[in-house]
Parts: sequence; C-alpha cells; structure tokens
Amino acid sequence: MNVLKFGGTSVGSSENIKKVIKILDDYSQTEPVICVVSAVGGITDKLLNAGELAQQKNESYLSEFKTIKAIHLTILSELISNKNDSAKEYVESTLASLKSLLDGIYLINELSPKTKDKLVSFGELLSSYIIAESLKHQGLDALRKNCQDLVVTNANFTKAEVNYGITNANIQDYFKDVSQRITILPGFVSKSESGEITTLGRGGSDFTAAIVAAALKVNRLEIWTDVSGMYTANPKLVKQAYPIEKLSYQEAMELSHFGAKVLYPPSVQPVLNLEIPIHIKNTSDPEARGTIITNDKSNGFHNAAKGITNINNIALLTLQGHGMVGIPGFSKRLFETLAIEKINVIFITQASSEHSICFGIDEGDAYLAALSINQTFENEIALKKIDPIIVEKDLSIVALVGDNMKNHQGISGRMFSALGRNNINIRAIAQGASEKNISTVIAQKDVKKALNTIHEGFFEDQTKQLNVYITGVGNVGERLVEQIKQQRKYLKEQLKINLRIIGLSNSRNMIFDESGLSLKDWKEQLAIGEMASIEGFLERNKSFNLRNSIFVDVTANEEVSTIYADYLKESIAVVACNKIACSSAFENYSTLKKLSVKYSAPFLFETNVGAGLPVIDTLNHLIASGDKITSIQAVLSGSLNFVFNNFDDGTKFHDVVKQAQKEGYTEPDPRIDLSGVDVARKILILARESGTQLNLEDIENTSFLTKDNLNSNSVDDFYETLIADEAHFQNLFASAKNNACQLKYVAEFNNGQAKVGLKEIPKEHPFYNLQGKDNIVMFYTQRYPEQPMIIKGAGAGADVTASGLFADIIRIGN
Ligand code: ADP
Ligand code: ASP
Ligand code: MG
Repeated sequence: MNVLKFGGTSVGSSENIKKVIKILDDYSQTEPVICVVSAVGGITDKLLNAGELAQQKNESYLSEFKTIKAIHLTILSELISNKNDSAKEYVESTLASLKSLLDGIYLINELSPKTKDKLVSFGELLSSYIIAESLKHQGLDALRKNCQDLVVTNANFTKAEVNYGITNANIQDYFKDVSQRITILPGFVSKSESGEITTLGRGGSDFTAAIVAAALKVNRLEIWTDVSGMYTANPKLVKQAYPIEKLSYQEAMELSHFGAKVLYPPSVQPVLNLEIPIHIKNTSDPEARGTIITNDKSNGFHNAAKGITNINNIALLTLQGHGMVGIPGFSKRLFETLAIEKINVIFITQASSEHSICFGIDEGDAYLAALSINQTFENEIALKKIDPIIVEKDLSIVALVGDNMKNHQGISGRMFSALGRNNINIRAIAQGASEKNISTVIAQKDVKKALNTIHEGFFEDQTKQLNVYITGVGNVGERLVEQIKQQRKYLKEQLKINLRIIGLSNSRNMIFDESGLSLKDWKEQLAIGEMASIEGFLERNKSFNLRNSIFVDVTANEEVSTIYADYLKESIAVVACNKIACSSAFENYSTLKKLSVKYSAPFLFETNVGAGLPVIDTLNHLIASGDKITSIQAVLSGSLNFVFNNFDDGTKFHDVVKQAQKEGYTEPDPRIDLSGVDVARKILILARESGTQLNLEDIENTSFLTKDNLNSNSVDDFYETLIADEAHFQNLFASAKNNACQLKYVAEFNNGQAKVGLKEIPKEHPFYNLQGKDNIVMFYTQRYPEQPMIIKGAGAGADVTASGLFADIIRIGN
C-alpha cells in the first residue's frame, strides 16, 4: 500500500486533476493506493475570507461564495459529463450548506474558531468528492472515505492535536478489509472526541497523509506538489535554487519549521520512528527525482548546509532592564505568559549578561503578547526594574539549515559577512547548540536579497551575480554595453560571473529589468523608456535591492557625481569614468573613500586616468605592498598629444584642434583639454591616490594658451582667437624644433607638489616618441628609484575606456 498526498495546486484545475488521475491509475496497477487530497488551490483562503466578510456584515461575502461555487462547478463539469446528475446534485447541495453557514455567520456576526473549522472543512470535502467521482467516471475502482470518521483530535480548533490511540485504531480498522484499489481521503479535516469538526492547522493535509501512512506502516509516503522537491531555498524567491536530493528527517523538520512551506512541519513526526521515507514529488513533472527524506544522515552531499529558509511577518520582542540580572524566574514567567495566551515562540536569544531577553513571534500575536507581558511584569515595570516590552515589526527570520554544519568551521561567519557586504542589517542571531540551524532576524524588505546572497555563497558553484546599472550611454557607454553583451557567456563560463545589466539611462530616458535587460534591442527600448532622473535611477536601484549591485557613471556630469555617496551608503559599488568626484574638493574625495570602506562598497575609477590603462590599479598595488611614490612623470592627455603630434610649420593650430575635436579626442568644449584642466585633474587624482592631500588649486598650471584664448566666452569665440594667435603657436613649435625637441604636455608630481604644462622634450627622453593619442606614466618609487615603472598605451578612445570600465566591474566581481 502506498500513501500519496496531492496539494492544492495539484488539484487546482481540471487539467491538473487529470494529471493526478493518471498518476493514481499508474500506481494502482501494482498496489492499492490511498490518496489524500487538499482543497482546490486557494479555496481555503477564500473560505476564510468569505467567513470574515460575513462576520463583518460585509455583503461581498456573497460574491466570494459565488466564486467558490463557480470554481467547483467548472472543475466538475470539465471532468464529468453533464449526464452524471447525482454528482452535480451532491456538489450543489454541499455548496448550499456552505452558503447557509455563511449566511448564519452574517446574521450573528460571529466567527469562532469552531465555526472557522466547520467552514474550511468544506474545501477538502468538496475536492475529495469531485476527485473520487472523476476517478470513477474514468472507470477506476475508487471510493471516497471521509477522514473525519478516522482522524480524532482534541477540541483545539484550527490546530487540533491528534489522539493517536483512537485515530490509529480507526485507520487500521477501516483499511483492514477495504476492497477498492484507490481510496480518496480529504486531508486537513478531523473530528473531536465529542464529534465536532476540527482541522489540523494550515497546510495540514500533509499531516493527514503522514498519520495514515504511519498508522498503516506503509513503505513510503509521497507528497505531490507544484515543485520538484524540497529546494535549497524557496524557488519562487531564489531562481537559482535547486531540489535537494536527500534530507534527514531532522533537516526536513528544521527546514519546514523555518519556512519551507512545501512540507507541513508536524508531518515528519508520525513517520520518523517507523522510518517511513517521505518522497516529495512534482505533479506536473512526475519524472523529476524530487526529494527523499529518510533517517540517513550521511546524505552524499558535499555541502554541510542543506537549505535556506525564511519566515515572514515576524515581530521581535525585547524584555530588558537591570532588575532582570541574576534573578531566576524571569524567563519562566515570560514564557508562561506566552504559553497561557497560546502564542508560539519561534526564536529566542538571551545575552549572557541576562540584561535582556529577545524573542520572535508571529506579527499577528504581537499586540496580545505585549499586553499580557506588560501585565505580568506590572510591578517590576512600575518599580522601573524592567522596561515595558519593546516590539519591533516588519521583520523576517532567515535560517541556514544542515545536519553537518556542526562539523564545519566558519559557516556562520560566511553567512553574516555575505549579509554585511550587501548592507543587510542583522537584528538578532540564534544558533542552536545542535548547530543544525543558524537563524538571523532581518528586515522583511531584505528577505529576497538575503536569500539570494546566502544562496550564492553556499549553493551556487561559486557563480557570482553582478547587477549593473549604467548611466550615460554615449560613445563610451554604448561600447561598454556592447562589450558586456558580447562577453557575457565567457564571463559566466570562465570566470563564473553572471553579469546582468538591470538599468540603463541617458539624460532623457531610463529602462529597467529586475531579471536583467535582454540587451537585444536596448537602444530602441531606451528611446521609449520612462523619463530619466538621477534620483529616480537611484530609487529604482534601491527598490530592487539586489545583491552585488554596481552603479556605473559614464557621464561627465557634475550632478551625477554628487550622488555617489548615496549609492555607497546603500552598499552599492560605484564605478566612475566621470572624474569630477575624484578631482573635487579633497573633503568630498576622502568622504567617498571612507564610505566605500564603511559600507564594503568598492569605489573604482581606473578610467579617470589613462582610459583603459591600469594606472590607478598599479599605483594602488605598489602602495598596498608597502612601496612609496617619490615622483610621477606623465603625459596624460590623449587630446593634447594628438594636437602636438599633428601640429607643425605646415599646419595651422586652429585646424589641428578642430580635427581633434571632430575625431572625438577632445571634450565637447576643447578648452577643458587645451587649458590643461583635464590633465591637472588627472595628476591630482594620482597624487591623492599616492596619499597626498592636494586640491586642484594647489596644482601649478602654466598655460601655453594666450590670454585671449583663455578669456574667450564660447567655443566659437575660442576658435576665433586661435586663428588670431597662430603666430604664438608657430613660435612654440619653432623653438622646440630649434632645440631638436618635441612638444609634450607633461604632468609632474614631486615631493608632494604637482604641476602641469607644455614642455620641450629632448630626443633621449621616453616621452619623445610618444605617438598619436598614447599616454605614458612613469612611477619613481622607493623600489623603482632610477628606472621608473612605466605604463604606456592608448589613453583615449571609446573602446579602451569602455574596457577600463569593464575591468573595474570585473574587479568587483572577483
Ligand atoms: P501544496 O499546495 O502542494 O501543499 P504548498 O504551497 O503548501 O503546496 O507548498 C509548495 C510551495 O512551497 C512551493 O510552491 C514553494 O513556493 C514553497 N516553498 C517554500 N520554500 C520551499 C523550499 N525550500 N522548497 C520547495 N518549495 C518551497
Ligand atoms: N487546504 C488546507 C490549507 O490550505 C490544508 C492543505 O492544503 O494542506 O491550509
Ligand atoms: Mg502544503
């Protein structure tokens, strides 16, 4: 004999019931089958809702009833031909009784636990009847037996306790000589010793099946549901979760007690001592292996942690006060009070100082709990020995579970640091001495992020998900998106990084997809996206609350640069191509660096100097390894290089600058490059990264431009002055030529001082042969005193800048 239980979704539609019939047909070929069924999916909630509406004298209970009626009649008509009038009559008369009960509740406006049980019992009674009739209709040898004749409980309505003596005898007696191949039993429902309708608690059909399986000592109990087993985390919240092949009874109990709804927690108890295995299977995918729960603790699974669970709607209550210290009996009185009020305590921690005791309960019980505890300790509170109880709401428990965790070190550390890195604040921690379970209490809004973060850390083959938000998709930004699109597969396979772009924005529009933008036609999508705003982009980023989030600024916009702090405070990493933040007031730069450390959110800006060249990264590594920078000599402007490499006595300065602008080597306003401001910003950033506290004003900038050039009011005006001052530029060139030198715009940092300016570079100098838009940086350090460390290569251009940004993103991934 086998016991199979089918849950609400498995019997939620005629289509699914047909799958159930098929499974029962197959099973009953070899052995008789007992099949426990839930109410049609969602019906128990609807019954309760109708009852509550009726009790509140709200007539919309009638429309809820109509929906309940329609759902059952539709399923019935889809499974059984209209000719079967007796089935239809039975269902209609049962529904009529339900209607009378609801009308009664409406009239007396009262809904006691006892009436509630009567009300919800209709769900299982109807579903079991319809399924049994459908089986018969298919020609199968089936019979329904009302479980209320078998399962006997006390009168603890809505969550009654089973009298196993009577119940087991009833079940054994009934099944002693049944002749039908398939017996359909309604789950969840039962009767008290005095014959009143009771139920076994929400989700209790699993329990019914376990009770029957144990009473008959069957070989196996199967729980058929809408997922392929007990998963490493709730698959509805963690996409990467996967079914756990094997679990011990203890692990299954722990997981279900802490929120894995797929199995009703008490269901393990009856089968545990008899060692009846529980198999969790998927009705829509009967071939899937599912999860097998046995006494075997070895479990062949490398991971010590087996799964992560969550319970939402938790309230944390804290009782504290100096009067508690060292005086026995406080906890006893506290928990006695809760027991009297029948309040279930889910979580307890007590600091060793005994100064406070903190426990978690269902939020729905918080009011009653606070009231009764304050009453119990009335005297102590009046004497100010202890404080009135503190209640915090909107919390969740997230628990990591596994039998073998006790044999592994550092599991809780890994769990807490993963949460910390993602800015998830832990309100309380409990770790049982058995170490099967490490529980944390966090804000409910963080649950999804926490589950995914921990799941990634413990169950995902080291693949790390990075969630990127890019603002500014001009030349460089566009190249970055394309590079990401092209490299995604490689990153996943080779570097185990799952890089997803969640948000994209330009100055006009922005688009988002919480599960990652497809990037197929991102430009078209962006063009019709919602209206862009800098704050709006941040807000969306915060509301998605995804782990490992990275904000990438590919603009040159000052306003965007002022929002970095807000990102960092959310533990969102910032990658900037924009140099404004790092070259702004030292105070601001240093605040951002501090925030980055405080919130464990990287702040990277490699492309601020030398585009894709690893200048800042190299500098950081030199310093981290204990070296000291004594001097930096550098050519850092791709645009000025382009200009001076192309300018000679056969060209005009004005034309060369125009060409540089046209080819995208200068800022939209070429004065920013030609005045040396851009180079000054870059050497400033290198000086700061070397540990020197400098500001832009401290940098000596001897401009090669004329007063008229510098005082021009507009870009056009500037070009006019270049034409007028052509002779000045020709003089610069002639002088260099006379001295057999090349003109280079050089940035220098020596002994804490920095300067920028045009220089005549002699032939033997490494700068002399610098081509096109190349940059060069020479680091003189304690370890490189004579021969500097040199970094050289293309220092401008969309592609190389985009790869520099890409490298920063990957650095965060690693
Ligand atoms: P049934 O109606 O079949 O009794 P339930 O809704 O009670 O089904 O339980 C199945 C649901 O449990 C799944 O759809 C899933 O959303 C939820 N669930 C929560 N945690 C887990 C987990 N760790 N593994 C599998 N399912 C889980
Ligand atoms: N129908 C009941 C509920 O929804 C019992 C069950 O489905 O297990 O809670
Ligand atoms: Mg269930």
